[in-house]
Amino acid sequence: VEFSNDVLSRLYIMVKPDGVQRGLVGEIIKRFESKGFKLIALKLTAPGKAHLEKHYADLKEKKFFPGLIEYMTSGPVVAMVWAGKNVVKSGRVLLGETNPLTSAPGTIRGDFAIDIGRNICHGSDAVESAEHEIALWFPEGVAQYDRAVDAWIYE
Ligand code: ADP
Ligand code: MG
Repeated sequence: VEFSNDVLSRLYIMVKPDGVQRGLVGEIIKRFESKGFKLIALKLTAPGKAHLEKHYADLKEKKFFPGLIEYMTSGPVVAMVWAGKNVVKSGRVLLGETNPLTSAPGTIRGDFAIDIGRNICHGSDAVESAEHEIALWFPEGVAQYDRAVDAWIYE
């Protein structure tokens, strides 16, 4: 059987230390699962400063950068990879805006966060950055996408 989900892609998301401490890991997983995306990698991890500086390398000139690294190393994070049609764009919609203030209710940041510096979850902003982040966070590799449920999700 052929499915037209030919823009199948992968997204890196990460529940940040505040999201983990506030017990929102299950809630975030539930939203991606309910939508129809497939979880292909998951781990709780507490990487050091150098690793987070690599992850956020494009922001190193920002004045909030030191505070961002301090926040991100303040506790463990839950790193995940999700797969599906347009998962990067769709995942950013599920997440909401960077600033929870302008995130619509119904989005993760809109429903669970107030401050831009405590916005509970990361999501890659493009297919290329997602692949880069997946390689950084899962050097051991991730599972293959299993198409068993595709007929129930995609036209
Ligand atoms: P996003 O996470 O939505 O992709 P960015 O890549 O622009 O947003 O920024 C990465 C993270 O840096 C944000 O999620 C947020 O935690 C933090 N951040 C961004 N802008 C600010 C800011 N003005 N003040 C404090 N933290 C910020
Ligand atoms: Mg970003």
